[in-house]
Amino acid sequence: MPMVRILYLLVCVMLITTFTACGDSGEQATSQTSMSDAADVAKGATQARLLNAESDIANWLTHGRTYSEQRFSPSRRINSANVNELGLAWYFDIPTKRGIEATPLVIDGVMYVSGSWSIVYAIDARTGKPLWVYDPEVPKIWGKYACCDVVNRGVAAWENKIIVGTLDGYLVALDATTGDVVWRVNTINRSEPFTITGAPRVIKGKVIIGNGGSEYGVRGYITAYDADTGEELWRFFTVPGNPADGFENDAMAMAAKTWTGEWWKLGGGGTVWDSMSYDPELDLLYIGVGNGSPWNRSVRSPDGGDNLFLSSIVALRPDTGEYVWHYQTTPGDQWDYTATQHMILADLKIAGEPRKVIMQAPKNGFFYVIDRQTGELISAENFIDINWATGIDMETGRPMEAPGARYTEGPRLAIPSPLGGHNWHPMAFNPHTGLVYFSVMEQAYVYAAKEGFEFKKGVWNTGTDHLYGDMPEDPLALLQVAANSRGHLVAWDPVQQKEVWRYQQAGPWNGGALATAGNLVFQGNLLGEFVAYSADKGERLWAFATQTGITAGPVTYELDGEQYVSVAVGWGTMIGLLGGPTMAPFKMQNKSRVLTFKLGAKNDLPTTEPMPSRGQLAPPPQTASAEDVQHGHALYAERCMVCHGLSAISGGLLSDLRYSSPETFRTWDAIVIGGSKGIIGMPGFAGIMTMEDSQAIKAYVIERAHAAE
Ligand code: CA
Repeated sequence: MPMVRILYLLVCVMLITTFTACGDSGEQATSQTSMSDAADVAKGATQARLLNAESDIANWLTHGRTYSEQRFSPSRRINSANVNELGLAWYFDIPTKRGIEATPLVIDGVMYVSGSWSIVYAIDARTGKPLWVYDPEVPKIWGKYACCDVVNRGVAAWENKIIVGTLDGYLVALDATTGDVVWRVNTINRSEPFTITGAPRVIKGKVIIGNGGSEYGVRGYITAYDADTGEELWRFFTVPGNPADGFENDAMAMAAKTWTGEWWKLGGGGTVWDSMSYDPELDLLYIGVGNGSPWNRSVRSPDGGDNLFLSSIVALRPDTGEYVWHYQTTPGDQWDYTATQHMILADLKIAGEPRKVIMQAPKNGFFYVIDRQTGELISAENFIDINWATGIDMETGRPMEAPGARYTEGPRLAIPSPLGGHNWHPMAFNPHTGLVYFSVMEQAYVYAAKEGFEFKKGVWNTGTDHLYGDMPEDPLALLQVAANSRGHLVAWDPVQQKEVWRYQQAGPWNGGALATAGNLVFQGNLLGEFVAYSADKGERLWAFATQTGITAGPVTYELDGEQYVSVAVGWGTMIGLLGGPTMAPFKMQNKSRVLTFKLGAKNDLPTTEPMPSRGQLAPPPQTASAEDVQHGHALYAERCMVCHGLSAISGGLLSDLRYSSPETFRTWDAIVIGGSKGIIGMPGFAGIMTMEDSQAIKAYVIERAHAAE
């Protein structure tokens, strides 16, 4: 079976960038105010406005537009009949060179968007003119704890404050007018490898934020802070700690019965790194919980068990963090099948009955429709071909696992891959068509238990082995591999649980979706096109070449009687770093920007810059044995590949190690073990790897460099 072996890892070399002038090729600002009334404007993003966000077409007040996170706008000025007149109104250059995943907020004519390294930009939403920048100055070395690039998926707003979670675990409230820090709190144990990449949400004056780090050996949790002061109000852990220390609450005592062995020594995982939604009527906050740490349950919980609340949707009381119900999508997770993917609340008519549902298409490949009041499973069907389970047993709500899927008896080719049938890329739900639109991936991966696995906090800990092999060098073969790792935009009927249309894309890892009442779905793709499709039929109606790959979700807003559509563009993130050789055919580079469109606008982007040169091949002669090279290959796969790319071929964002300078080869151990390039984010591996290990990796890279000559 053809496949792309998609793997992960940790070492991250960061590119130092300097702050450059921001583009503002768009129109001049007008003196008119937004459509919101002046009293509201003075108060900023109040609870009343957040509750009314559905009909507030002027603004995009919270991450998913509304608490239901539907990412649907009733705006219809731009529609399927006139979308061909859509043009670039303005662009804003984001002056960094790492991945962009953020959904902007738009409040009273100002856009707030976060870029890589958790930097926040306030921009005039009419013109693209920069208003202020807040740089939390995340130490570059913290990037070593980021599994999937140093990204940030967005900010939250509360009254006159903009709130961002930083990669190094702080939660910071900024004055929305000036960007000045109002309060800043630490949300983590600073000796633990946590990161924050997700957008906070604010409910009744409480900021809710989780974190990431499950691959590095942490115990997941989510915390609420007073939005006015930053004071901690409650914390809900998603996996139990050491029973000897006592449990924080009844939910933890219940969860502990589903674990075995001494899981707390390995962290357990279950980080809440992305999705949340909120039902004000039921007063329930829903959180999506991540994978197990390590992935391999045989290591984490050796006598089995469901390992609550890994890979679960959990409903909590937002005032207290009290547990209400849970639904576990992947009991006893073994595959990094997180349930952190986007969750949409909607009211659907199912079997003639109106139902209040929560919908999720997590990594494991099933589309779930769940009663959001009780947690009862209503229906679940797979949205791609999968082989780890044959379906969901509707009696028990549990997946029917395929024999051998847990790879305890030997390696197993599984679909989906750890990147999921669907990842964090936001979905959109159009209540008029009744369809959910989302970015789907079809990829396989070989899972294998790692023999002699040794847990080391702070570095990659999956308990699995990388049966990676080499990627083909031949460009045609590469294209074939890339083509067999597929992606498409799907329109899914959640009532009938079936696909209504799909648009096949060039490869996996395309953008989030936006739905509007103009019978439109907007989505960017890895080829750097921002595209409008008809919502009912999936016809491609309009496209704009953005010069860079797109992964983030678009937004829309109205000002002065005009509708705008915006998207933060920029390549990188997981596949941009890791997938070097498979992404090479697309020749995608990162040009991070916010692009904003409106009807009749005719601005252009500056001429595309050429792909940066990789430099000269200058490897020293190979003096190592074939055995050492092989050892280096295995170490490279475990410690270096996620950032520097499969087969030591860079996707173009970070240094291509094969093109290292003679100086780099000379000072190799000082960099790899000593950490001499820590300032740009390349961590040293003293205590993790030996000098012999470092030399073996060098031998492997030299081998790869000679192969490229
Ligand atoms: Ca994970």
